[in-house]
Amino acid sequence: MPELPEVETVRRGLLPAMEGVVIEKADVNRPDLRWPFPENMADRLTGKKVTALRRRSKYILADLDSTETLIIHLGMSGRMLISGDPVGQFHHDHPAPEKHDHVVLHMANGTRVTFNDARRFGAMDMSGTADLDHHWLIRDIGPEPLGNAFNEDHLIAKFDGKNMPIKTALLDQKLVAGLGNIYVCEVLHRAGIDPRRKAGRIAKPRVAGLVPLIRDVLTEAIAAGGSSLQDHRQTNGELGYFQHAFKAYGREGQPCTTSGCGGTIDRIVQSGRSTFFCRQCQR
Ligand SMILES: [Zn+2]
Repeated sequence: MPELPEVETVRRGLLPAMEGVVIEKADVNRPDLRWPFPENMADRLTGKKVTALRRRSKYILADLDSTETLIIHLGMSGRMLISGDPVGQFHHDHPAPEKHDHVVLHMANGTRVTFNDARRFGAMDMSGTADLDHHWLIRDIGPEPLGNAFNEDHLIAKFDGKNMPIKTALLDQKLVAGLGNIYVCEVLHRAGIDPRRKAGRIAKPRVAGLVPLIRDVLTEAIAAGGSSLQDHRQTNGELGYFQHAFKAYGREGQPCTTSGCGGTIDRIVQSGRSTFFCRQCQR
């Protein structure tokens, strides 16, 4: 499942195809994905210019000059494919339509932007741009981890009195937006904090220290995603599914890379999700 850095990479890959460009035609090939599409979605998109392409948590937001915003969520397996006339660095000869091409945006610059989703856990909805913060998918999301509202005081206050494991707390989207299983494992490994520790029992300086680490881990992953676009490593036109060199996630049984540690990465299950960590250096 794509996490915040992957979604941000998809957004950046889509920018040259979509931002400032009119949607000439929208093909909506089925009534729903995870949820029904909004009424008359094709009509509400057709002829509208994308004035800005933004991101909030794991949602890509296309503001339209009709004062509405198209909300896009990739779900588990959603992919954005760019085809047609080449723009930017990213292009793919995607012979539309394919079986799982659920929505195709024909852009005035000659590109086609295709939302393809085999498992259909993705979503698209529309909202008045001014009301976006009250939209049911958006309204309960916590602060952006790379924004100013996410800071030491916020995290300390949210952890205070919490009896749940720190890993579970960090996965709570109301606490911080867009952090998922992979990057929480990476952050806790870098912080040297045992993912099973109760959030409310961790000393405040250690909690405060998580804020820059979360920012670093996400910023590095976004940079890696950006360079994967630049390198043309993803020549098949799929945005967002690049491989990182993770230090903890997916490395069960392999040596811990923390300098001087000598431990081994272990895997346990917490709240039904795999946790990868090192018993030696994460305390
Ligand atoms: Zn270690």
